[in-house]
Amino acid sequence: MNTITHWVGGQAFRGEGDPLDAVYNPATGKQSAQVALGGAEVVDAAVAAARAAFPAWRDTSLARRAKVLFSFRNLVDEHHDDLARLVTAEHGKTLDDARGEVQRGLEVVEFACGVPHLLKGSYSDGVSTNVDALSIHQPLGVAAGITPFNFPVMVPMWMFPLAIACGNTFVLKPSEKDPSPALLLAELWAQAGLPAGVFNVVQGSKAAVDAILAHPGIAAVSFVGSTPVARYVYEQGASAGKRAQALGGAKNHMVVLPDADIDVAADAAVSAGYGSAGERCMAISAVVAVGRVADELVEAVRQRTIKLSTGPGLAPGVQMGPLVTRAHRDRVSAYVDAGVAAGAELVVDGRDHRVEGHEEGFFLGPCLFDRVTSEMSIYTDEIFGPVLSVLRVEDYEQALHLVNSNRYGNGVALFTNDGLAARRFQREVEVGMVGINVPIPTPMAYYSFGGWKQSLFGDSHVHGEHGVHFYTRTKAVTVRWPEPGAERAINLGFPVAH
Ligand code: NAD
Repeated sequence: MNTITHWVGGQAFRGEGDPLDAVYNPATGKQSAQVALGGAEVVDAAVAAARAAFPAWRDTSLARRAKVLFSFRNLVDEHHDDLARLVTAEHGKTLDDARGEVQRGLEVVEFACGVPHLLKGSYSDGVSTNVDALSIHQPLGVAAGITPFNFPVMVPMWMFPLAIACGNTFVLKPSEKDPSPALLLAELWAQAGLPAGVFNVVQGSKAAVDAILAHPGIAAVSFVGSTPVARYVYEQGASAGKRAQALGGAKNHMVVLPDADIDVAADAAVSAGYGSAGERCMAISAVVAVGRVADELVEAVRQRTIKLSTGPGLAPGVQMGPLVTRAHRDRVSAYVDAGVAAGAELVVDGRDHRVEGHEEGFFLGPCLFDRVTSEMSIYTDEIFGPVLSVLRVEDYEQALHLVNSNRYGNGVALFTNDGLAARRFQREVEVGMVGINVPIPTPMAYYSFGGWKQSLFGDSHVHGEHGVHFYTRTKAVTVRWPEPGAERAINLGFPVAH
């Protein structure tokens, strides 16, 4: 059985006495490997390596750093397919979907290649007589990233390309459910010429996270995962004096106004609801049908849903893969039971979906509910599976109220042909990422990604200029070079410009 290890100081690393956890192929339901679960000792080793590498990396010129980033970018591109296959093997999503994830991660590396431009400071000539002022952006030291199972390539790449480009060193703690892609990324960094110790991987779960949060050698923590853990990481990290950002869970709405094109809206709802088996933080899980649109929309979504092909992610033609673990599949299925018990109308039932030859795989067919109400658990909770709920409301105001009353605020979409309504919605909705006729409005690398309310703790989103800001601290410098013979005097007053 292959054992997936840590990566410390530029090489594979195994902590003494690390407990082991099983890694599964969700399509077969069989164990494919075991992963070492690091604790305080491994985190110590990784932080020691990262701290040792920091001074030289911080002092590496922007030109040289950018060169390493360009090489890494090319290597990720060359290994695009290898990374995607590792994602499919351990996460279960279709190969095409995994390729898309790698592409979106790559775009952040490409953004980070522009680090000489991104780190430009500012300079004011003559802020006072013979005095100039400048500000520079400096790295923090060792930054850590703690990431979820659902994007084992893209989400870590929201973090480390910019952290490293800005001159920090990095410790990544990936999800224990799909730990392999992080190791391939570590090898690609080494091939790209990144000095040993700048990028490290600690495999593990809660014990590794707690060791990261408590470690005095770590200056900043970025987290992406579920809301309860995000809150915990933010609070623990901040109380330990670290800079912290923690992105949490979601319940994303898609509001369909009566004037919307039904076919366009139904295609979007099905794509965004069932893509990656609903295991996306930007997945649509609640369709809000406004006014007369409901009957026709539900029927259009139903027709598309029953035709979806669910199976192993590597099989050609498959549109939806399995869920990540058996426990998660059973949890999602239990939510469908709860929806039925609560009185919602189950229009498409995927609970008995079987895939021939893959009877042990963690499959659940797509499920569609109509007439869901806001107090049902299928609406209040983040299910993170292929379950789409339709809620019916009378008008725009009710739709907006529903979205704004939700405790999450990650993504939202509005489908309409009415520009004025769209403009009103984008101003009034209390959600961090908004799509107008775009169901998954995931911002490009040069914009920042982040939700509002319980979808994000902290004040900084990831990548884009927020990423540069998060991984640097600003220093303001005031400079005077007195001219020989200039008038001098003691002045105990507070300095003012003159
Ligand atoms: P999770 O919260 O269970 O795990 C995330 C990370 O935290 C993992 O590395 C895990 O090992 C660690 N962890 C788990 N339990 C912990 C605990 N009790 N204490 C300390 N660390 C712990 O999340 P997941 O199931 O891996 O991922 C799915 C969740 O992530 C969903 O809620 C989804 O919405 C969210 N997510 C959010 C975004 C976003 O941008 N907001 C993006 C992707 C995923």
